[in-house]
Amino acid sequence: MSGFTTSPGTRDILPPDAGRWRAFQDVFGEVAASHGYRYLIPPMFEDLGVFLRLGEATDVVTKEMYDFEDKGGRRVALRPEQTASVCRAFAQHRPVPPWKVWYAGPNFRYEKPQQGRYRQFDQVGVELLGPCDPDADAEVIALAWGFYRRLGLQQIALSVNTLGDEGDLQRYTAVLQAYLAERLDELSEESRATLSRNPLRVLDSKRPADAAVVAGAPRIVDHVGDGARAHFDRVLATLGEIGIPYAVEDRLVRGLDYYRHTTFEFVSTALDAAHVAVGGGGRYDGLVEALGGPPTPGVGFALGLDRTLLACDAEGCFPAPDPSVDVFVVDTTGGREAALVADELRRAGRSADRAYEQRSMKSQMKIADRSGARVAVIVGTDELASGTIVVRSMKSGEQRTVARSEMVGAVAAFLGGAA
Ligand code: AMP
Repeated sequence: MSGFTTSPGTRDILPPDAGRWRAFQDVFGEVAASHGYRYLIPPMFEDLGVFLRLGEATDVVTKEMYDFEDKGGRRVALRPEQTASVCRAFAQHRPVPPWKVWYAGPNFRYEKPQQGRYRQFDQVGVELLGPCDPDADAEVIALAWGFYRRLGLQQIALSVNTLGDEGDLQRYTAVLQAYLAERLDELSEESRATLSRNPLRVLDSKRPADAAVVAGAPRIVDHVGDGARAHFDRVLATLGEIGIPYAVEDRLVRGLDYYRHTTFEFVSTALDAAHVAVGGGGRYDGLVEALGGPPTPGVGFALGLDRTLLACDAEGCFPAPDPSVDVFVVDTTGGREAALVADELRRAGRSADRAYEQRSMKSQMKIADRSGARVAVIVGTDELASGTIVVRSMKSGEQRTVARSEMVGAVAAFLGGAA
């Protein structure tokens, strides 16, 4: 009988990688907190309707959703992303804006699994709800940028665009629709299907068959009115002033139907083309209202954890944190001393591990070595009888026998820090 393995598109994140994930989220939390964002934990599943508001023309909603009827007959879906949940939470709890929150955790999309694309994947992100201030757009971009730098990533390119305001976008969509409708025969089958639902998505097409039509399409920039232009100019000016390099990318429309004004994307130039986008976001001024809340502008982004770590691998930065404990306790008297000594060290704030099952001295020293601990403390029959303990540097082999009551201080001295 064969055993079970993980479902397609899901993975066990084993040590030491899991420690790296945790560190990734911790660093993100620190960066977000340093910009005034607070941690929010949305549920992993919601009423399907919450996600349908993201736009029924997006693949994420139409093709990739894990939705099902629960035992109570409710139609629910595993979250494919978290912006909708954050906006639903805002509409439900009505906090005082500006509401600045960050989140981290898994999302679920029924995609074709491949390197950098999974069915369960993690994101970290922020949402800033309330102000329609271009400085808010620049701030969230700067936050993401600062985070990439904290990870040590250098090869990140930022693209930005504006979709204009509601009216601009409607006018542009009509012009684009007319342009594309005249060239139906020249479009791929997928784009023909997308066209009636959301012509903007055709601009996103990476299919070679669409390249010529997309290249000649009317440009959003030519349909953006003065108000939205001023908003965008201010975003770009602020980015320039705080030293964040960007490229204006006219075709950047992104997935959500609710995006207005600024959209942006981060790509890793260190990765190959299959999974270059490591994060993206934008302004979604209609979403809170669509979820039953008061009209509330919002801007935010989500960064893919899995893919950002692939970028870190490609650039050789942000390694998994060292999982080693400070001290390894070796006890050849039966194991009871190991329990007491390890407990004393842990109470004194040291991380400590020990061997089990009464192994030989040699075998315990081997385990101590493998553990990566910098210091070993050793109790044998002589030490037990005389109330002493041996403290040993794993690196140099230097060791001292000290009174049991002085162990914590001696360990601190060996570790090179205060007790
Ligand atoms: P999105 O929510 O689609 O705007 O995606 C934001 C980021 O999440 C992307 O740039 C990717 O880094 C990441 N991402 C999206 N979908 C997946 C997936 N299926 N597997 C891994 N990462 C993903």
